[in-house]
Amino acid sequence: MPQSTFPYTHQVVVIGAGAAGTSVAASLLRQRPGLDVAIVEPSDVHYYQPAFTLVGGGAYSLAKTARPQASTLPEGARWIRAAARELQPEQNRIVLEDGREIGYETLVVTPGLKLDWDKIEGLRETLGVNGVCSNYDPSLAEYTWQCIRQFRGGKAFFTQPPAPIKCAGAPQKIAYLAADYFRKKQISSQSELRFYAAGGALFSVPDFVPHLEKVARGYNIGLLMNHNLIAVNGDKKEATFSFTDGDGKTQEITESFDLLHVTPPQCAQDFVKNSPLANADGWVDVDQHTLQHVRFPNVFSLGDSSSLPTSKTAAAVRKQSPVAVANILARISDKQLRASYDGYTSCPIVTGYGKVMLAEFVYGGKVTPTLPLSPFKESAFYWQVKKRALPPFYFDYMLKGREGDIAHKARD
Ligand SMILES: Cc1cc2nc3c(=O)[nH]c(=O)nc-3n(C[C@H](O)[C@H](O)[C@H](O)COP(=O)(O)OP(=O)(O)OC[C@H]3O[C@@H](n4cnc5c(N)ncnc54)[C@H](O)[C@@H]3O)c2cc1C
Repeated sequence: MPQSTFPYTHQVVVIGAGAAGTSVAASLLRQRPGLDVAIVEPSDVHYYQPAFTLVGGGAYSLAKTARPQASTLPEGARWIRAAARELQPEQNRIVLEDGREIGYETLVVTPGLKLDWDKIEGLRETLGVNGVCSNYDPSLAEYTWQCIRQFRGGKAFFTQPPAPIKCAGAPQKIAYLAADYFRKKQISSQSELRFYAAGGALFSVPDFVPHLEKVARGYNIGLLMNHNLIAVNGDKKEATFSFTDGDGKTQEITESFDLLHVTPPQCAQDFVKNSPLANADGWVDVDQHTLQHVRFPNVFSLGDSSSLPTSKTAAAVRKQSPVAVANILARISDKQLRASYDGYTSCPIVTGYGKVMLAEFVYGGKVTPTLPLSPFKESAFYWQVKKRALPPFYFDYMLKGREGDIAHKARD
């Protein structure tokens, strides 16, 4: 792939070649061959993150989640192998980590989000040792499986930070896999499993909550809502949570653990947060239907870095990308922006080995399944879809900018 020369202005600059940036760039080039598209991306590897949960549960190999970046980037795009450091939308310019500047006519901002490990005191020092694991980093997901496999009873805790996070179901999926594994190994009676969530409910869409609570009850997982992990002492194997008591007072409680799976707090990337493109919470401030920036009309955003008020998933990106592409091409041709995103997102909630409850919904938490199957039933079919069909679909279809799709529908 050719490296760009500087200084240079491109017709389209894409920041971040993850699920969103790659899909958009590939589709733009598929529909408009010859378009001058540059992709700013520092990483040599592209990960299929949705399979990290299965890696942590010992049901998928880490190697299969990773492909060389050069093999996933679309042919015809110019790869600028660097990180963006500053956004200057008034000048239609971005500045790279090494000080180089790039101009653009249209900007697509898709650098994902920041995992804020340092927000939890003592966590970084003990990640990957002392039974402290996380599926949110590929270098740690295999350690999750090691912790689960080597667990011989005791206390296993699973945490979920305040929203928003990517894949809101992932913190509980690994709790169910661990519980299922302990049951199969007949160590459930010597184990105490707890799920600590900073929010007040197990899932953001109320229709799914009773069904998921039933799954948790079935495994005897204690649910502690409104408990936020704030510190970890790896040597002592202690976790500290803040919670609000019945009188509205904030309290802290420290508990000892044998296994701790942490989902880190998450926020916008610093260079996005500190830019004129950010909303008050730091996310790229776009219209929730057109994906166009609300103040800079030649800027679009989608995926985890955007302000779109829906659950942050690759499945959401699959539906956002065709809308972004149609509206970018319309704008380039001085036409009206007609494509509209309805907030679709989906989360295959793994509820045990061989079982998935597929949560699909749009803005407002309206449940919208794609197939005529009950969204609230644990399904062996959806497990196969998650494990075998979605990874090749992602790499060989979605990242290639192919957009054919089955429509999702509101339930009767
Ligand atoms: C444990 C886990 C489980 C998940 N499970 C599911 C699931 O079951 N289903 C599902 O649909 N989704 C799932 N997801 C979420 C899904 O992976 C993300 O929502 C999706 O990848 C978002 O795409 P994105 O392009 O916005 O961000 P990403 O795919 O994260 O890509 C961001 C890209 O930007 C690059 N970048 C970062 N900083 C800069 C910079 N300064 N300059 C340039 N480039 C930069 C990064 O290197 C990266 O390549 C899961 C995620 C995790 C971690």
